[in-house]
Amino acid sequence: MGHYKEFYTILIHWKYRLLLLIFILPFGIFSNTISLRDFLEKSDAEVRWNPYRSRGLLIKNETTISFMVSSSSIVVDNNRVITGVGFKYKDGDLYINNDTAALLYRILKVDLKHEEIVNDENLYNIPVIIIDPGHGGRDSGAIGDHDNFNIKEKDVVLSISNIVVDKLRKNLLQKKILMTRNDDTFLTLEERVELANDIDIGKKEAVIYISIHANASLNKKAQGFEVWYLPKGYRRNVLDSNINNNEKLTTIVNALKEDEYSLEGQELAKSILDGLDANLNDVSDNRGLKEEIWFVVRNARMASVLIEVGFVTNEVEGKRLSDPAYLQKVADGIYNGIVDFISSYEKNIR
Ligand SMILES: [Zn+2]
Repeated sequence: MGHYKEFYTILIHWKYRLLLLIFILPFGIFSNTISLRDFLEKSDAEVRWNPYRSRGLLIKNETTISFMVSSSSIVVDNNRVITGVGFKYKDGDLYINNDTAALLYRILKVDLKHEEIVNDENLYNIPVIIIDPGHGGRDSGAIGDHDNFNIKEKDVVLSISNIVVDKLRKNLLQKKILMTRNDDTFLTLEERVELANDIDIGKKEAVIYISIHANASLNKKAQGFEVWYLPKGYRRNVLDSNINNNEKLTTIVNALKEDEYSLEGQELAKSILDGLDANLNDVSDNRGLKEEIWFVVRNARMASVLIEVGFVTNEVEGKRLSDPAYLQKVADGIYNGIVDFISSYEKNIR
């Protein structure tokens, strides 16, 4: 978590306000941060700025680091997400805190001769993974009614989810793997989200939430898989309302949190799509990444994605989705995507 976030949290408590103004503000901003200008000089890196995406790119030798102002995540070499960094815009200049600078020096392999001490505690951990098989019970979800067989979304997604969960539990022993349902029961959307939001996570921890669905279309030829994530710019209430009553502050902190979650969600979605593509692209179509506001996704206080594994309304794909061997391939693809995301997210860079 970037220092400026903690700074806002401190701001909430009136007792600290005076202290903040006297001590922390001047020292916090001027002694614990370094301007990007100074950083570039020290590291000999170059920076490029994309005004359309409000995104910057630090480049040195073969290494690139993509960052966004007010986001606490960076993406290294287009594939590795690291959270807990701080970029701050102030008086026409960009500043980074010392922990972030130390991390960036290390990623860019800048030799500072003991000048900077690296803080590994900035790196995040994902202790909980939630798999949410869509629908269930009286809610069948999409139905594929074909001449020789019929197929229900709720059954397909439960089978896939069970395989994914078994594999995660077997291989990621330190993590808690939860399911919103593991049999044919009906859950309201609120109940699904409640499970997710009830989890207690530490400050340096994140939870990922993966909702698995199958698609339907009036166009019987529609087929293929796709992965949805939360669009950036959607305002969520990700903080408890009792933390503070300052509306303006909540908006700021929400915007910061949201950037963090949406970037993570996007990376997770990409990783799962790649996992599915590697396993299915010879038989099914990759329909790509999609942005949408889903109920389940928007209420979960964590990075979350929604997978559409294929169309039950397409006779050929419906048949595939009735085949346990194919469901295993789908599940393996999802599993690989999750594991890839986690390993890049939790990776220590040395
Ligand atoms: Zn569905």
